[in-house]
Amino acid sequence: LTKPVQQNEHPLPKMPPFDYTPPPYTGPLADDILRKRQQFLNPAVFHFFKNPLNLVEGKMQYLFDEKGRRYLDAYGGIATVSCGHCHPEVVDAIVNQTKRLQHSTILYLNPAIAEFAEALASKMPGDLKVVFFTNSGTEANELALMMARLYTGSHDVISIRNGYHGNAGATMAATAQSSYKFNVIQTGVHHAQNPDQYRGLFGSDGPMYARDVDEIITYGTSGRVAGFIAEAIQGVGGIMELAPGYLPAVYSSIRKAGGLCIADEVQSGFARTGSHFWGFEAHDVVPDIVTMAKGIGNGIPLGAVVTTPEIAEVLACRNYYNTYGGNPVCAVAGLAVLKVIEKEKLQQNAFNVGFYLKQRLSSLKDKYEIIGDVRGRGLLVGVEFVTDRHLKTPAKIETLGVMEQMKEMGVLIGKGGLLGNVFRITPPLCFTREDVGSFYHHISSSFHTYSSCFF
Ligand code: PLP
Repeated sequence: LTKPVQQNEHPLPKMPPFDYTPPPYTGPLADDILRKRQQFLNPAVFHFFKNPLNLVEGKMQYLFDEKGRRYLDAYGGIATVSCGHCHPEVVDAIVNQTKRLQHSTILYLNPAIAEFAEALASKMPGDLKVVFFTNSGTEANELALMMARLYTGSHDVISIRNGYHGNAGATMAATAQSSYKFNVIQTGVHHAQNPDQYRGLFGSDGPMYARDVDEIITYGTSGRVAGFIAEAIQGVGGIMELAPGYLPAVYSSIRKAGGLCIADEVQSGFARTGSHFWGFEAHDVVPDIVTMAKGIGNGIPLGAVVTTPEIAEVLACRNYYNTYGGNPVCAVAGLAVLKVIEKEKLQQNAFNVGFYLKQRLSSLKDKYEIIGDVRGRGLLVGVEFVTDRHLKTPAKIETLGVMEQMKEMGVLIGKGGLLGNVFRITPPLCFTREDVGSFYHHISSSFHTYSSCFF
C-alpha cells in the first residue's frame, strides 16, 4: 500500500493557485536530519511517513518542503495552527515583543499578560474569569486536576475512555488509551464508558451513557468526587463528538457528588468547531474549569486554565508558579490570535467551510465502502475507515496507505483513534472552499490509486 503515484496512471489533482514562492532553502536536507534524529533525538517519535518530510516554511494553509514543494496543510500542526502558518499579525506581535522584553517573572507586573488574561476571560461564560497560564495542554490539565482535588478534598477523578488529556502524572492517568499510558500510577482515576456515537453501545443516547458515571460514583468512590474531565470532541481519540445529552446529565451527577466539571478545550476551543467558540457550548453546559492550549497561540507553546474566583482561591495561599507560563512573547501571540479570529471571522469560516467539507466527505462515503463514518464539527473533522461497514472492522493499513499517498500528492492530514483508522482533518481556520475542493480531489485520487487493493 505504499506504491508511489504513477503520474500517467491517474492525473494528479491541481492545487489552488497561491501567490508565494519561498526563497531557495540552503539548510540541511531530510536525509541528514533523519540521521541526526536517529542518533540524537528521543526515539519515541512518530514515524508516520515512509519518506519523512522536511518542512522549512509555512504560509497560512500551506507548508513548503526543502525543495520548495507546496503542501496543503489539512492537519494544522495537530489542530494548533488556528490563524494560519506565520500569520503576519501574529508574527509582528511576536517580533515586536521579542525585541522589547522576552521574559519577566510573576514577581513583576507585565502589561501583555494582564491584557491577554482580560481578553481571554471575556470569551468565557458565567463566572469563569480567573486565568492561569501554562506552556502546554498537559500542564493546563495537570493544574486543573490538582485544583479540583484541592478544592474538593477528594482524590477521585472520572474521565472518559478513549479520551486524551496529556502525558504527565495525573493527565496520563486520566487519558484512557493504552498506547499513551506507560508506567502510570492510576489511583483515584475512573474511566467511564465512552459516549461514542459510532461504536458505542447506546448509539447517540447521551443520558444512557451518563448512567455509567452514576454507577462509578456509587460503586467506585465514597460518593464524593474531585471532578470529571472530558473533551467535547475527542481529538486524539478520532474526532468523536460526545453523544448529545451526555454532558448535561454527567455535570449534574458530578455536582451532586461535590465534584468540579473540567472542560478540556485543548483541541476543540478557539473557534475550531465553528458553531461556537468553545466545544462545550454545543452541549449547553458551563464548566467549573476550562483548559486550553494548541489553537490559543497559533503554534507558540502556550496553555491556560480558566476558572471561577472561588475555585482559584485554592491556590491563593500556596506557592504555585510556572516559570514560563504567561511569558510576554506568548501572551502577545495569544492576544494577536484572539484579534485575528475576530477580525477575519474565522469562527464563521470554520462553520461554513467545515460544513462544506463534511458534505463533500459524506458524498465520498456514498461512493466508497471503506468510509465507515464522517463526523465532527467545523474544522475538526474525522473520517473513519473500515474494511467491513457492518462489522466496523478497522482499516488501519489502508488508512496509513491513503495518508502516505496524499502526502506524496501534496496534502497533509493526521491520523488517530484508538484503532488507528481515523483521518483527522484539522486545518488552519483560514481553509477555504477551494481548499476543500482540492482536498476532495486528492483524497478521491488516492482512493483510485489503491483501488485495486481494496475497492
Ligand atoms: N488535551 C487534549 C484534548 C489534547 O488533544 C492534547 C494534545 O494533543 C493535550 C491535552 C495535551 O496537550 P500538549 O500536547 O500541549 O501537552
